[in-house]
Amino acid sequence: MNYDDYEILVNKEHLLPKDYCPNDLIVTDNNENNFHQFKDPKLKPMVRKIIYPYLEKMMQDAKINNIEFIVDSGYRSYDYQKVLLEALIHEKGTEAYSLVALPGASEHQTGLAIDIAYYKDGIYFDDVKESDPAAIWLAQNSYKYGFILRYPKGKECATGFQYEPWHFRFVGLNLAQKLFNEGVTLDEYYARKDNTILKR
Ligand SMILES: [Zn+2]
Repeated sequence: MNYDDYEILVNKEHLLPKDYCPNDLIVTDNNENNFHQFKDPKLKPMVRKIIYPYLEKMMQDAKINNIEFIVDSGYRSYDYQKVLLEALIHEKGTEAYSLVALPGASEHQTGLAIDIAYYKDGIYFDDVKESDPAAIWLAQNSYKYGFILRYPKGKECATGFQYEPWHFRFVGLNLAQKLFNEGVTLDEYYARKDNTILKR
């Protein structure tokens, strides 16, 4: 298994090892770290270097269309995910399990996933809604830059996650286009692929 493969499937059944960390992480510049209370406040979100040019172009083109967003959260380590989950369990009890991925099951550990936030009239919003212009624009256009809306509405059974209009995942131009055209999630794509192999 090549954990550095940008088409990798990570979900509740396909976990990353505890010690996996991408070796090409870079800090994004147009960003904020919503999770700084748990870490160094100066630490900005990081993503893998291979996705950065695509992310940059997507943000530029969004801006041309009067859509502005920031990268609110990028790479998160296994241990950090654990801290996040434990903090949320403390706050919300067992409901936390449906809101935050278990360590190893979070795509944020790949460095290929981003959560977006935005400013409106100088006010910071990280609770991105389906009807927000940035969410609408990205859902329709992110595939052109190799990203997918990873946890779409109505696909909760396939992904194992609630609808997250703010979470986008880089899978490369070809796969993003394919998933967008066919309206399938990454989980469904791999399930279908496995079935085809079994049937042979
Ligand atoms: Zn996310």
